[in-house]
Amino acid sequence: MNKQKNLNPELKLAETLAAERQAAMARRPSRDEAEQAIRTLIRWAGDDPDREGLTGTPERVVRAYGEYFAGYHDDPVEILQRTFEEVEGYDEMVLLRDIRFESHCEHHMAPIIGKAHIAYLPNHRVVGISKLARLVEVYAKRLQIQEKMTAQIANTIQEVLQPLGVAVVIEASHQCMTTRGVHKPGAALATSRMLGAFRKSAATRREFLAMIRGGGND
Ligand SMILES: [Zn+2]
Repeated sequence: MNKQKNLNPELKLAETLAAERQAAMARRPSRDEAEQAIRTLIRWAGDDPDREGLTGTPERVVRAYGEYFAGYHDDPVEILQRTFEEVEGYDEMVLLRDIRFESHCEHHMAPIIGKAHIAYLPNHRVVGISKLARLVEVYAKRLQIQEKMTAQIANTIQEVLQPLGVAVVIEASHQCMTTRGVHKPGAALATSRMLGAFRKSAATRREFLAMIRGGGND
């Protein structure tokens, strides 16, 4: 079972997941099958997919799905791997806050709208901040639960950059809660994942939380 590439177990896992994703894409239904499925849902809702106002709808919905779920086509590990840089001794916290995202819950396929805050303590390398935003986007544009997305973002940064610590906080509102079911508009779910120094040191965690709350502006 010895592979020639010297990858850590998490990266091997990421490779396996990438292979599984490729297999799923190979089983992907045709665009026509997808449009037929939307027609079925329109009929199930009680309307006529052939009436004038709805004739272009299945095509538009399928195109919109292409955007909502574009994240299945991208490899999150690859995004972070592309831009390693030496840090020249920089060992302070790197923080990107208020990264807005749109996702969809895997239980109802309803929108999840929120923002992510990401911090890490560099060890040997940093990435461009746009890559952190891209990482959020790749995981957001899949069927998600917020807890899983929070862990995926933190774990990927930990695996690829191997920093001294990673912190991810996500705050989001779930339209499956606000527009249906219990109807609680304004309710936001907060989730966090702290690794390394952020988990071990209360002071580091406090510094991060203070920075995402106020950002020095209040
Ligand atoms: Zn839901």
